[in-house]
Amino acid sequence: MADDCIFCGIVAGEVPAEKVAEDENTIAFMDLNPWTRGHALVIPRRHTRNLYEIDDEELKHTAVAARRLARRMRDRLGADGVNVLNAAEPAAWQTVFHFHLHVIPRYRDDPLELPTQPGEASQDELSAVAEELRG
Ligand code: AMP
Ligand code: ZN
Repeated sequence: MADDCIFCGIVAGEVPAEKVAEDENTIAFMDLNPWTRGHALVIPRRHTRNLYEIDDEELKHTAVAARRLARRMRDRLGADGVNVLNAAEPAAWQTVFHFHLHVIPRYRDDPLELPTQPGEASQDELSAVAEELRG
C-alpha cells in the first residue's frame, strides 16, 4: 500500500467505493465521474504506479477482470460496445497513480466523443516512426 494513494485506500476499505466485483487480485468499482452509464475502474489490489511498472501477472489479472466486467455490462446494462482505456503519466491524462483500467460501456446513442480526430501521416512518416519502434 502506498501512502496518499486513494485507490490503495479503496483496497484497504478506508475510502468508500461502489464496488461491483472483486477477486483475489483485483477490485472493480464505479468511477465517481462516469463518462457513460456504468463507467467503472478495475485495479490490481497491489499498488503499482502505471503500465510502465506493472508486472505481467498483475496486468493479466486486471485485463481479465476488465473483460469479465465488460461482458457483464453488455449482458446487464445492455451496452452495445465497450472502451477499455488506460492512462500512463500526466501527458496521457493519468491523474491517479495506481494502475487502473477504465471500462466504459458504450451505447449506440450515447453522447460520448473521444477528444481526438483521426490524424494523417505520409508513408515516409509511418515508415520512419515504425523504424524507430522496431527491434
Ligand atoms: P485517470 O485520469 O485515468 O488517472 O483516471 C482516474 C479516474 O479515477 C477518474 O476518472 C476519476 O473520476 C476516478 N476517481 C478518482 N477518485 C475516485 C474515487 N475515490 N472513487 C472512484 N473513482 C475515482
Ligand atoms: Zn495505490
